[in-house]
This record gives sequence, structure tokens and C-alpha cells, in this order.
Amino acid sequence: MKEFLLSRLGHDNTLLNEIFNKIDPITQQILTRLDRYERWELVVISVLMTYVGMRFRYFLLDLDKGLWDYMKKQVFKLSKKLPFLNAKIMSELDKTKHGLEEDILKSNKGELFVQKLPSLGLGIDKTLETIEQKYVKLNDLNWKNGAVSGCVYGADDNLTLLTTKVYEKFAWSNPMHADVFPDVRKMEAEVVRMVCNLFHGDEDSCGTMTTGGTESIMLACKAYRELAYSKGIQRPEMVVPVTAHAAFDKAANFFRIKIHHVPVDPITKKVNPKVLKSYINSNTCMIAGSAPNFPHGSIDPIEQLSKIACDYKIPLHVDACLGGFLIAFMQDAGFKLPLFDFRLPGVTSISCDTHKYGYTPKGSSVIMYRSTEYRKNQYFSAVEWPGGIYVSPTFAGSRAGSLIAMTWATLMSIGHEGYVKITKDIIDTTRYITKAVEEIKELKLMARPDVSVVAFESSEFNIFRLLDDMTSKGWHLNALQNPSGVHIAVTKLHTLPGVAERFVNDLKSAVKDIMSKDDRQLGKVAAIYCSTQSIPDKSIIADVAYLFLDACYNTKDKPIANGSGKH
Ligand SMILES: *Cc1c(COP(=O)(O)O)cnc(C)c1O
Repeated sequence: MKEFLLSRLGHDNTLLNEIFNKIDPITQQILTRLDRYERWELVVISVLMTYVGMRFRYFLLDLDKGLWDYMKKQVFKLSKKLPFLNAKIMSELDKTKHGLEEDILKSNKGELFVQKLPSLGLGIDKTLETIEQKYVKLNDLNWKNGAVSGCVYGADDNLTLLTTKVYEKFAWSNPMHADVFPDVRKMEAEVVRMVCNLFHGDEDSCGTMTTGGTESIMLACKAYRELAYSKGIQRPEMVVPVTAHAAFDKAANFFRIKIHHVPVDPITKKVNPKVLKSYINSNTCMIAGSAPNFPHGSIDPIEQLSKIACDYKIPLHVDACLGGFLIAFMQDAGFKLPLFDFRLPGVTSISCDTHKYGYTPKGSSVIMYRSTEYRKNQYFSAVEWPGGIYVSPTFAGSRAGSLIAMTWATLMSIGHEGYVKITKDIIDTTRYITKAVEEIKELKLMARPDVSVVAFESSEFNIFRLLDDMTSKGWHLNALQNPSGVHIAVTKLHTLPGVAERFVNDLKSAVKDIMSKDDRQLGKVAAIYCSTQSIPDKSIIADVAYLFLDACYNTKDKPIANGSGKH
């Protein structure tokens, strides 16, 4: 190399000569040292070193957070293994498990679990009677009067009548067999087209129906991962605002996509496009924004995200799962919004839940794409399967045709004007509640509500105490964390006469109560959220959360004795 450079740049290049004069002794030294090794040894050593180096690089790439966070977590994990601590943690987990099981048993109201099939079937009448007498009575929360945030978005008796009648006709249908059930095949295509039209998709726009927002989001992530693979990206990464729905984390986990959570503006709770851009690299397979996000109800700046998507030629998913059926009608209802849909050239997919503000029964959502090129990557095929050439559009194999038919029927029966009217009522109610919250000086809005979610915090008291108090007044609100807060997602049920007024009055009197009393003990939910935020190893929180899931599936009629040590 030395000869090559000198011949090219001239033997009298003084700078080059000087450099080589410095380097030469060093290379000589290295060479004499390497003389001790055989050639094959040198080859093996370099291969090994490259391998270890690459592993370390991938290890760093795969870390969710930095190396420092990883080490803290490891130390915490190891210390959990110390006999003393381990025994303590086990006994705490045991206590929690015991408590959770007791809660479940209490809510069974003395009814024992069915453990086996009845040897003689109950028949129609007795079965219905059993449901009425032993199960329906377990529900205490009156969600029909608007006591619950989100959850049930609008269940009027007409819709119940309509959907159950439709269910009757389609209970046995399955769109997997499009040849047997052309009716639901046509209905699904029409639902997707109607929703694409709401979001200004052109003729190329397309999509599928899914069982819910989580499936819609995960399918889009899966599609973009395939697209990245086809471009030679081996370790795809996604960049989403930290306020994006947990379904993106689920997709990242299921499909081995690294996820970057971009912090949002502390005042608006919207992602800052410039900050988001700084997370993009050559492995980025998609970016996303929410319209609106679940925690604080603000809409990310989709117009700027679209511009970034175009500049970097990266797909952009807009999560309109929650508010899709509101934002699509807000303009017609007289409310202004920036653009959020396929009118923006960078938007490549949109998820929109029909089972939220579309008012269809649960198990229904739509995932839309700008063109079939994207949707193709969502599909799955197993063309050599002995059972036949297998293709499926979504996660499921067999699907409920009844859900498609009920969705189709709900959309058709409410119609455009119907949705505009409900949207207006909901946004008006949201603004009424927003104004009331602003007037309570101990409370602070966490963000300006763009659509139907009002989130608030307090610098005067622990906000989770307010959650507790509202729960005891019969309200079911959502707890938020990082930072702590409480929100209500306003639904059609809150637009019923007197509901919003009752909410505001209860909120005022709860705040007054808290301000006038000394600190009392926190309720369960509040206590959990207060204690978990400082633990570095979040796996222990997951352990407790999983205990809750376990308890939901528990069918023992007596709690297991405390301290059994089993999990
Ligand atoms: C509800 C929701 C989803 C998806 O939730 P599912 O429970 O699976 O329907 C996704 N994003 C946002 C913003 C949501 O509110």
C-alpha cells in the first residue's frame, strides 16, 4: 500500500513520507509480534474477533434502552435472586395473588364455578334462565347510564335489536368460505370501501376488516416488516410517539421489530416531528402517529409526519382506532381539524375501530392501506399445505361472518347524517366537561382535548385519590401514568340528559372533599400506580399484572391458603 500511495502521490510528498516514518516502526512491531502465530491461527482469531464484535453490536442494537438502563435492570434482577429478597418477593406475590382471588370470588356473589359439562344438557329455557339468574346479576356497574369512561360507546336499544336480528341470520357464516357465504364476502368489501371513503382513500385504497384495533395495528406493523425484509433490512425498527397505543409494543414483541418511543411535547402531548425524525435510521420500517392518542386525546401533527414519510420514503401509519368515527365527521359537524387521512401523500395506512365510535358490537375494526401493494404484505399463504392451498387476509383463519354483517348493518342504519349528529353531541359534551375541569383550580388539563378524551392531573393532591373518590361515586375512569393522571373518554352514553352535569358535580365535590380532608389511605388502584413508577425492573410489575390475569381464569371456589409458595 505504501508503494502504491507513493507512486500515485509522488515520492517527494513530504507529508506522506512523514506519516509513513511515524507508522513504519509500529507496523514492524506488530508484525514481529504476529510472527509468533501460525497463519491459520491468525485467520481463526480474526474470524472469532469479528464474530464477537458483531454479536456485541447486535446486542447493543437490540437493547430497548441504553446500556446503563440494561445494567441497572440486571442488578435488580440478580438481587431478586438473593435468598432473603427472593423469599420476601415471593411472599408479597403470594399475598397479592391471594387478594386478587378473593376479589374475584367476592364478585361471584356466592355462585360456585361450573367445573364440568352438565351430564344432561340444560336445554334452551333452563340455560337462558341460568344466565339471567346467576350471571347477569354479577354486574354491578351500570354502564348504561354513562358511568364508564370509553368501554361501551353507545348501545341504544334500537342497535341492540338490529344487531341481534342480524346475528340470528349470520351466526353460522364464515368469510373464509367466500364461495359458501357470498353475502358476507360482499358486506366486508363494502364496509372497507365505505370506511376508506370516509378517510378520502382513492380507487387504489383498500383494506380488510379485523377483530379490533389491536389486530388492525399489528397487521399494519407486520405488513411494513415484510416490506422492510423485501428491501433487505434485516432488523426492522419502528418509530412511534410514546403516547401511541400499546398495540404497537405488542406488534414489536410478536414480530421482532425494535420499537423507539419518541417523547412528546410536555404541554400539548403531541409528538414533535423534529424529535421523531432524529430516531429514524436505515433500519426504520415505519413511523406512526395517533389521531387522537388514547391517554390524552390529542392528535399528533400528521401533516408534518406525512412530509417526513415522503422525504425518507418510509410508510406512515395513522392510528385512528379510537376516534376514527369522530374525526371523519367533525368537519361536517362544524369543528375544524388539520388533515389526518389519505389526502396527505405520506399516509400509507389508517386503522379505524368500528367497535368504538362506529357503535358496532365488539370484535370489529378496519385496517386501510393507500394501495394493494401494502395490503399484499399483510396477507399470509401456505401454498404447499397438504390441506390445500391456504391463504388468509388477517390473523384468524375462520372468522365470524356475523361480526361483518352486524357492522355493515350498524353503518347502514346510522348513516352519514346520523354519525354527524352523534359526533356533534359528543364533541359538545367533551367541550362542556373540558371547560368545567378548567374551572376547577386544583385540576389541570394534561392536554387540550382535540376530540373526545379529557385528561387531567393535579399539583395540589395525588390525582389517584380523585380516581378513588370518583369510583366510590359510581364512576369508572381510566388511570394514566408517566405522568400520573386520570381521563374520561366521552361516549354517546355521556351525551344523555344529565350525565355530563352529574359527572361535573361529582368531580367538583370530590375535589372539595380531598382538599378538606387529611391524607387518607389510598385505594388499591391508586396504591399500585403510586408504587410502581419508581421500580427499575418492570418485570416485577408484569408479574403482578399477570397474577391478575391468572385470577380471572381461576375456578377454585375457595382461596388457596396464604403462603403456599406456588404461582
Ligand atoms: C382502543 C384503541 C386501540 C385498539 O384497541 P382494541 O382494544 O384492540 O380495539 C388502538 N389505538 C387507540 C388510540 C385506541 O384507543
